[in-house]
Amino acid sequence: MSTYKKDIPVFLTEAQIKSKVKEIAAEINKEFGDEEVTLIGTLKGSFVFFADLVRELKMPTRCEFLGVSSYGHQTTSSGEVKVTLDLSASINDKNVILIEDIVDTGLTLSFLLEYLNARKPRKLKTTAFLFKKVALKAKDLTIDYVGFEIPNRFVVGYGLDYAEHYRGLPYIGTLD
Ligand code: 5GP
Repeated sequence: MSTYKKDIPVFLTEAQIKSKVKEIAAEINKEFGDEEVTLIGTLKGSFVFFADLVRELKMPTRCEFLGVSSYGHQTTSSGEVKVTLDLSASINDKNVILIEDIVDTGLTLSFLLEYLNARKPRKLKTTAFLFKKVALKAKDLTIDYVGFEIPNRFVVGYGLDYAEHYRGLPYIGTLD
């Protein structure tokens, strides 16, 4: 699959995405009130969800990003996670929310939770916009705020790529 496809079938519409982001934000606003929160987005996939979510949050926020290695050009998880960009500030004793685009096998999230917990945050919560529950391999994984549980399909758009394409699609589409 090396050619760019123009008409990607819609899986989740812009309207569905928008209202789900508001729902997640409402839960976070309720839980944290006026307490400061450090948001950590995993690059590259979560940048669009991150940008939408942060604009719905009412408390003071700090924005951090973690670069993690992705699939490359394949559509199946390698299970190997490499941090390619680290945090720019300490999260010691901070309220932290890790923002993930999609949880598939859960191996990335599981690795990142251990990685971040080692830095002793006060609270560490997780949100994933999409969750392929059926594909989950990691054990004892908690996702505090889930957007949509989706079937085991390969999706693109809303930040998610295939070979670096389609990240800018305003909706989520299927490519398999
Ligand atoms: P996991 O470690 O949970 O198996 O995979 C997480 C990462 O795999 C995501 O952050 C994302 O980069 C990639 N990924 C998993 N499923 C999909 C998918 O359906 N579409 C795209 N574009 N990336 C995916």
